[in-house]
Amino acid sequence: MNELFYPADQSGPESLAALGSLLKELKHPFRKGESVGIKLHWGERGNHGYLPPSYAKEIARWLFSQGAEPFVFDTTVLYSGGRRNGHDSLETASGHGYSPDYLGCEVVIADGLDGKDVVDLPCSYRHFQSVQAAAVVEKAQGFVIFSHFKAHLGAGFGGAIKNISMGFASRAQKQRMHADAKPSLSKRRCTRCGVCVESCPTGAARVGDDGFPVYDLELCIGCAQCIAMCPDVALRISFNTDQRVFQEKIIETAAAVWERIKRKTVLINALVGITAECDCLPGKAEFIAEDIGFLGGYEPVGLDARSLELVGKEVITAAHPGIPWERQFEYAKEIGFPTP
Ligand code: SF4
Ligand code: SF4
Repeated sequence: MNELFYPADQSGPESLAALGSLLKELKHPFRKGESVGIKLHWGERGNHGYLPPSYAKEIARWLFSQGAEPFVFDTTVLYSGGRRNGHDSLETASGHGYSPDYLGCEVVIADGLDGKDVVDLPCSYRHFQSVQAAAVVEKAQGFVIFSHFKAHLGAGFGGAIKNISMGFASRAQKQRMHADAKPSLSKRRCTRCGVCVESCPTGAARVGDDGFPVYDLELCIGCAQCIAMCPDVALRISFNTDQRVFQEKIIETAAAVWERIKRKTVLINALVGITAECDCLPGKAEFIAEDIGFLGGYEPVGLDARSLELVGKEVITAAHPGIPWERQFEYAKEIGFPTP
């Protein structure tokens, strides 16, 4: 089935109307009384680029009107910030307006407040023979994957694929995907504030003799916490292995999750507030493109491909040069990414 596109400018009141029009046209598989999870990212503590909660409220309102029982969810993350455990993450969500009172539905940490409510999904791919995901993948009867489309420092871009992959992954699975990613320092940008050293969970980061941080890559587990917490964007990911391996792992995790949810899911990419960085990063978000609108569809690979066309592949590449994000599409084809 083809994608549905509704242009919108986030600063205008018509953006909610555009989302509403898209929802009206979206063919969905949800039946009366079914619990339907709205998967989204409510933004890291201190992030300014996350999507406003009014969109989630509109989706929840629409689901209620269809007789479904919606809830909004995300999963815990690897780095400490404001989403490492469920309690902190719910506090961060509420601080960004994603509260049950405002949304009119529950806000849930889908891998449990302690990050342990997870299931293993058997698969047979090059890197993973099993993918560990939040138990919601089996518990919910339907999903709306609502993704903020933007550039991303590790994956090149973040949209529906990443929301299903990293967004559903347990903390262990997130770790498995990041295992080859290590920090690389730009001394030109570094202010020697020491935040990365304080936030490193393994002691791999320490202050060197000249006051600049140094990283013991043997101790480093690739959690990217230092990168996420650096207030001056002085750290980048450098990959131990071929950078394409990370792209392949994103696809494998997404494919294993998608296999379980493909018949009970619709997807919407929000191509508004398009930033250079993920909503995981605290700090000011740099916009790299004009607002475009909302794109709805029924499978993640085609939806992200179309989103890239609309935003401009060159815009995404310019934000993080050298990231082989095209590999996601090649590899999805190679492994026969499941279709609904
Ligand atoms: S140095 Fe490695 S282990 Fe420490 S925070 Fe950075 S990525 Fe994580
Ligand atoms: S957090 Fe960033 S700016 Fe601060 S010491 Fe680490 S790399 Fe340098």
